[in-house]
Amino acid sequence: MTMHNVPTIPYFRPTGRECDLFQTAYTNGLPLLLKGPTGCGKTRFVEHMAAKMGKPLYTVACHDDLSAADLIGRYLLKGGQTEWVDGPLTRAVRESAICYLDEVVEARKDVTVVLHPLTDSRRTLMIDRTGEELVAPKGFMLVASYNPGYQNVLKRMKPSTRQRFLAIGFDFPKPDVELEIVVKESGLDAGRAAPLIRLAGHIRSLSGMDLEEGVSTRLLTYAAKLIAGGMGIDQALDVAIIEPLSDDADVQQSLRDLVATIYG
Ligand code: ADP
Repeated sequence: MTMHNVPTIPYFRPTGRECDLFQTAYTNGLPLLLKGPTGCGKTRFVEHMAAKMGKPLYTVACHDDLSAADLIGRYLLKGGQTEWVDGPLTRAVRESAICYLDEVVEARKDVTVVLHPLTDSRRTLMIDRTGEELVAPKGFMLVASYNPGYQNVLKRMKPSTRQRFLAIGFDFPKPDVELEIVVKESGLDAGRAAPLIRLAGHIRSLSGMDLEEGVSTRLLTYAAKLIAGGMGIDQALDVAIIEPLSDDADVQQSLRDLVATIYG
């Protein structure tokens, strides 16, 4: 969990009306779900909005061991005494902050039970262990992200949960916008960044066949950073794109062939 008051506003290049929609969700006290593939800018978007709105942000990267107690809090032993310690969600509610649950479907099932009363008109966080029922103040906002691309049925979000959120679909930006982002994030000049964007277009058209998912904007910025730092293109693409995308030797070879056609 990280909590930060971001002093400067992190760079985020909007690709649609997402900033207005975020603000509208906040004003209406509605939770927001960001749907989209990994590395397409969801986290950056939330960090940008929180900083712009001057709100503290609690980010929780959900994983399959994350339980309701990890979000709400638990009794801890301190100097022979038990003491209640708020978890990040409880703190966010108490402090009128934004709580961002990244990849919420990864979390254990008991998390859903906690989210339901918080994401409907009750806006209530039930702290079973202490008997407390916290009504979220107007300034509290719950944001969650979810990757609909994963094929695993167990990791799908249940309609009863998703229908409590306003939702925005994210995707990889259009090529000209992605170029702008990669240049800005990496410092690589547009001339050398452009082939990376073309490569991404080709790789994304392969995804679904051999690749579970296309290359993310995040990986493109990694590759661009390495190239800007002086690494040779082949090596940069190998460590930043090909190896992270696949473990399969045949798939890696077809990716190298693609690289060769684009850079050849
Ligand atoms: P996600 O949360 O969707 O997995 P991130 O928000 O962590 O992805 O994005 C990964 C990286 O991609 C960011 O650190 C940033 O460098 C870059 N990025 C992607 N989309 C944008 C955007 N619209 N504006 C600025 N940077 C972006």
